[in-house]
Amino acid sequence: MKTIQNTNWLRAILLIILLGAYGMSIRAQSKPPLISPGDKEMVCFVYHRFDDKRYASTNISASVFRSHMNYLKNEKCKILTLSEAVHWMKTGGNSSDRVVILTIDDGYKSFYTSGFPILLEFGFKATVFINTNHVGDKDYMSWEQLRKINEAGMEIGCHSHAHDHFLDLSGQEMLKAFARDLSMFKGKLKEKLGIQSKVYSYPFGEFNEQLELLIKNAGFSAACAQNSGVIDQSSDLWSLPRYPMGGPYASLIGFIDKVNMHPLPVKWEKPESTIMTSNPPELILCLDHEVIDLDQLQCFIHGDKECIITFEESIEGQVIKIRSINQLPNRRTLYTITAPRLDGKGWCWYSHLWINTKVKE
Ligand SMILES: [Zn+2]
Repeated sequence: MKTIQNTNWLRAILLIILLGAYGMSIRAQSKPPLISPGDKEMVCFVYHRFDDKRYASTNISASVFRSHMNYLKNEKCKILTLSEAVHWMKTGGNSSDRVVILTIDDGYKSFYTSGFPILLEFGFKATVFINTNHVGDKDYMSWEQLRKINEAGMEIGCHSHAHDHFLDLSGQEMLKAFARDLSMFKGKLKEKLGIQSKVYSYPFGEFNEQLELLIKNAGFSAACAQNSGVIDQSSDLWSLPRYPMGGPYASLIGFIDKVNMHPLPVKWEKPESTIMTSNPPELILCLDHEVIDLDQLQCFIHGDKECIITFEESIEGQVIKIRSINQLPNRRTLYTITAPRLDGKGWCWYSHLWINTKVKE
């Protein structure tokens, strides 16, 4: 009998140790702590080409773009540059403001001719991410045009010098190439416009932990990825989500849905890395089940419900495991998860980017 009691006591101690270790491992995987208390949220969009039918998947017609701006105006959304929005998120400002950030990647000439005039008409600002190596080339804005949009209030962000696939390299070789490219960007921008970029956008939306750290240490205040989602105070400032607005995604209805989206309450995710180590990869999320209706949770891959979700209870919240039914054939794939809020205030959205560096572009 005594032996049994001892065994039970030992079991109890072992259980406490195991739970402690479990709690510690959970904490180690948790997202960064909130920057400050509050419930600020903001949505960021990425546009590429305007009224340029040659590249349908990254293009938006001027009329649809105008309808987006009209909606933002009617809804009294606050349009900030990315730097301003990050400042608002980190510090004061009204948390009930509906902040929207408009970003334009690559610096195409079609922005100058068809997008910029519409922004001026509405009195809106945007952050324009450029590649210094391409300025003045056919289809790209010139330095003079960039000077004009900057003087009109557009923020000029860094989208690298040469728009390379840095993840095709690895280790020190990748870091050296990335740092060299960044230095060329900074030198060229300073020489031509006399300014510095405060924000970064990863070429092709491709990043890993090492590149995030390099950008963070290079003096930028934030960096954008291209996985979709809503930004809140627990978002990683070095891989902020953006909703793409090009081709089929650019409709006014889709835009309105995204402006009114909320972040999925993710307590932690595993893995945090974007780099695929198995195919199909498995994503594990721990969700705050008191906020969302789990019965209506959905996952999408390439916009289709080609995924399997399994649910597991945990002391931390609801753990879900998501895996594609099929192998992922592309270099970049998003697992997207949506669920309605239990309070009836709309839907929540989260996406995880997977990069298969074995697939070359
Ligand atoms: Zn780009």
